[in-house]
Amino acid sequence: MDLPKLAIAALGGTVSMQARNAGEGVIPTVSGETLLTSIPELATLALVNIETLGMLPSASLDFELLLSVLSWAKFQVKQGAVGVVIIQGTDTLEEAATFFDYLWPHDFPLVLTGAMRSAAQPGADGPANLLDACRVALAANSRQRGVQVVMNGQIHQACSVRKTDSLALQAFSSPVAGPTGLLLEDRACYLRPPRQRMVLPLPQKTTQKVAMLEASLSADTLLLENIIALGYDGLVIAGFGAGHVSQRWATVIEHIAEKIPVIIATRTGSGSTAKVSYGFAGGEMDLIRKGASMAGFLCPRKARILLWLLLGCQQEHELAGYLKGDALLQC
Ligand code: ASP
Repeated sequence: MDLPKLAIAALGGTVSMQARNAGEGVIPTVSGETLLTSIPELATLALVNIETLGMLPSASLDFELLLSVLSWAKFQVKQGAVGVVIIQGTDTLEEAATFFDYLWPHDFPLVLTGAMRSAAQPGADGPANLLDACRVALAANSRQRGVQVVMNGQIHQACSVRKTDSLALQAFSSPVAGPTGLLLEDRACYLRPPRQRMVLPLPQKTTQKVAMLEASLSADTLLLENIIALGYDGLVIAGFGAGHVSQRWATVIEHIAEKIPVIIATRTGSGSTAKVSYGFAGGEMDLIRKGASMAGFLCPRKARILLWLLLGCQQEHELAGYLKGDALLQC
């Protein structure tokens, strides 16, 4: 029987990290090809093309690199791959997953994974996560689900997944939505049907800048007041509670929203922003009146990705539509 084609790209991250000398701390050194040797059973499941496209801690990935990985992944599908896996650091996995999800045009799955324990650590989770990610990418029931994150035996949708623990093995969760599936006895099992997806055109430029500021108690307005002068093209606020800021911030936001798109998300880590609940100055009804858009369930980081991509393809006027088609509610 012909084995299906699977493509894997390695970008670095803890999964690829080892210390050169004792006590030095781990750094990315292990190639994708070497990682593959830790899961020999994959050879019985697929014809694998693996490439090491980066060797970076995920804090140093950037949108340009992700765009080149995306075009590599699309080329792999053209060459016959039925699924693509990307191995990267977990620190920005939730953002990279969202970035790819807005741009992935195929029904075939694109699956991201990484590890919380470095390559030589006892109980390293990289090999198990990688094999699980490959199983998910190869499964027919993973199709039409866009981009997913596979970590610690769970499958999460890009739109909802977040890193919610800094060091624990169970570091990823999908607040409100929960995982979309699990690996049960090596099979990808889903708890929900695929959701409708919105795919954006590729950005024609990458120079746009979107600032992200978090509201905090008694915060000054110095950075906020300089957002336009600093040349930002968009602003995301991680607001209090259901999407609120202080009265002082609201006044400045009104001026900013006259010039560039402003999204207000919640800094709480879970739940949606409100629309019609609070009427005080700095509350969501006031901010909407002042020209800001509410992020709904989209967390501040994911909202920043959406705005950056919309600005990149000159579709920022479509922002309301993209926010309204709340991905999480359809997950
Ligand atoms: N701690 C991170 C990881 O889990 C490091 C990184 O994101 O590169 O991979």
